[in-house]
Amino acid sequence: MIKMAPQELELPGAQPTEPELLTMKSLAQPEQRTTTRVQRGRDLYTEHADEIRFEHGTWLIPSQSDLTSVYEVVLGRRGESCECRDFEFRGESCKHILAATIAHAKTATCSGCLLRVLHRDLTEVTEDHESLTWFVGDLLCPECIRSHGGIA
Ligand SMILES: [Zn+2]
Ligand SMILES: [Zn+2]
Repeated sequence: MIKMAPQELELPGAQPTEPELLTMKSLAQPEQRTTTRVQRGRDLYTEHADEIRFEHGTWLIPSQSDLTSVYEVVLGRRGESCECRDFEFRGESCKHILAATIAHAKTATCSGCLLRVLHRDLTEVTEDHESLTWFVGDLLCPECIRSHGGIA
């Protein structure tokens, strides 16, 4: 995907981006550049957390410049990868990978439906929950708890 002038593609009401001049300047200073990239990953996560999906081991991260497309991001012990040009040409963590990393850190896999769910929405099964369906330590999302009539 080619991104010629991201500033012009900003939707009304979107966060103002820093002037191009500043971006060019920070390119010359690696530490600042990293900070900017991390910040962009955070912004991407904050703005699109609801649209981020995890399917078959792949994170689907929405594109900020083209709201109809997603980038497939893979995180893993063997390294991380993204489909975007940033990653392809620079070979370093792009904002999509950073957003996926944040999403990964904030979620865990539900033992019932195996979807990635926010930590705060998961309930851990303890010994107090008498059930033949779940094991102690299992994490359950609200949907799974509801569909089994609760776990308490
Ligand atoms: Zn990317
Ligand atoms: Zn579930």
